[in-house]
Amino acid sequence: MNSGENGKTAGRFYRKRVELFRLLDRIKLWPSRKGILHGIRSVETIGGAARITTHCNKTFLVRNSRNSRAARQLRNKMFVKPCEACRIPGWKLEKYSATLFRRRFGSFLTTSNAMPQA
Ligand SMILES: [Zn+2]
Repeated sequence: MNSGENGKTAGRFYRKRVELFRLLDRIKLWPSRKGILHGIRSVETIGGAARITTHCNKTFLVRNSRNSRAARQLRNKMFVKPCEACRIPGWKLEKYSATLFRRRFGSFLTTSNAMPQA
C-alpha cells in the first residue's frame, strides 16, 4: 500500500493527528494568528518545541501539539491570504489545497522517508 505516498497523485492524505512538526516540515507553510499563510524557511526543533523561521524573517516558537491553533488552522485551511513577503510559489499553495486530512486514512509522516523494505 504505497499509493498516494510517492507524490504522483494530485490529492494527498494526511492523518488528522499527524504531529505538527512533521506536518510543518513537510508542507513548509505556517498560518499566523491573523490568518496570513507564511512560507517556512526552517524548522529547528528544540526538545518539545520548534523554532519556525519564515521567509519574511519572522520567528515563532511553537509546541509540538496536534491540537494547537496552528495545527487546526492548517488542517482546516483557515487562512485569509498568503503572505506577500514570503512569496509562496503557486504550486506550493496548490499542493497544500489538494492536501486532505482524514481521521482514518492517510500518512502520519512517521516512516515514509526511512521505511525499510519490509
Ligand atoms: Zn511571511
